[in-house]
Amino acid sequence: MKNIAILGSTGSVGKNTLSVIRRFPDRFRVIGLSANADIKTLDGQIKEFHPLFVCLKDKGAAFKLERNLSPKVRVFSDDEGLIELIKDKRIGQFMFAISGSAAFEPLLSAIDSGKDIALANKEALVMAGPLIMRISNRARVKIIPVDSEQSAIWQCLEGQDRGRLKTIYLTASGGPFYHESGRVLKSVSVPRVLKHPRWKMGKKISVDSATLMNKGLELLETMFLFDVSRNKVKVLIHPEALVHSMVEFVDGAVLAQISVTDMRIPIQYALSYPERLNNSLPGIDFYKLRALNFEKPDILRFPCLGLAYQAAEELGTLPVVMNAANEVAVEEFLKERLKFIEIAEIVAKVMRRHKNSLNPTLNDIRSANNWARQEAYSLTRRLN
Ligand code: MG
Repeated sequence: MKNIAILGSTGSVGKNTLSVIRRFPDRFRVIGLSANADIKTLDGQIKEFHPLFVCLKDKGAAFKLERNLSPKVRVFSDDEGLIELIKDKRIGQFMFAISGSAAFEPLLSAIDSGKDIALANKEALVMAGPLIMRISNRARVKIIPVDSEQSAIWQCLEGQDRGRLKTIYLTASGGPFYHESGRVLKSVSVPRVLKHPRWKMGKKISVDSATLMNKGLELLETMFLFDVSRNKVKVLIHPEALVHSMVEFVDGAVLAQISVTDMRIPIQYALSYPERLNNSLPGIDFYKLRALNFEKPDILRFPCLGLAYQAAEELGTLPVVMNAANEVAVEEFLKERLKFIEIAEIVAKVMRRHKNSLNPTLNDIRSANNWARQEAYSLTRRLN
């Protein structure tokens, strides 16, 4: 029996994790849950899974929840409450499904606790990948990827000699607008962006998928998780989203991980690793599958991916700056204070103004993050 703490339980990955756990009550037990402010969803999850402790970031919501819960459930709130929850010795493994840079400090605490981490968040790795990997290796903490592409690469590399790796092909569905004209991209609305053709996801990642910044973040995530240089990772548009990524070895052999487009598959493997468990998800019908398509991404139409290429080449504090500026720009787009194409413009401007510092410390990363957020806000205000 594994005691799982799900951080970010009311989001898309959190809910899918609970749906996996629901099928294996004798394997996994939900010991802790955390959410931002969605008290209604969290309350339902508490009633079904009976965790020992929960955390709501919003203090008012935490107070309201506590009044209506049995005293057997301990309720934490705020950032400090989450850090306290993370320290609980009874946790066996984390599912890290907090979205955005908000996951950064909790992730450092989770590594400190010495427990293995199934990691769905990509922003924290983009911010400080080399440091996070170094700290987790030193603490003997396994970072198990949950993102479908990273899970695929990880599965393809299992048991292989990493020194014989030639290229990682990181696949991308292309998002909802890949084949739209530049004119259409200019007038893309928020509701259209939130409707992804292949994956049903949270708002931040849906916008990132539409701009292709999501793939840019994944490029950096791949480099850090698997300790490979920029020239070993190639992004590949693959609209069917069935090949979740591929690895090519020096002898020309290519291994791919292929499965239906369902987050519960990588989530289940991240929980059950190194075992594989039965489930009743429908497989791919290869008799009906007509074709698998691949093409080179167009970074002129999707400049966010080009900016990520630049951050991946220069490294240092540029990835954290890119991530912070993007996070702010996406928030402002969702509030309809920026146009879709202005997201890339804001990110590019903030990156251009940044003086990169190589081999940053944790504090360099924190201050680059704060600086880039401020810059992105003030640039957005100037546009309005
Ligand atoms: Mg992904």
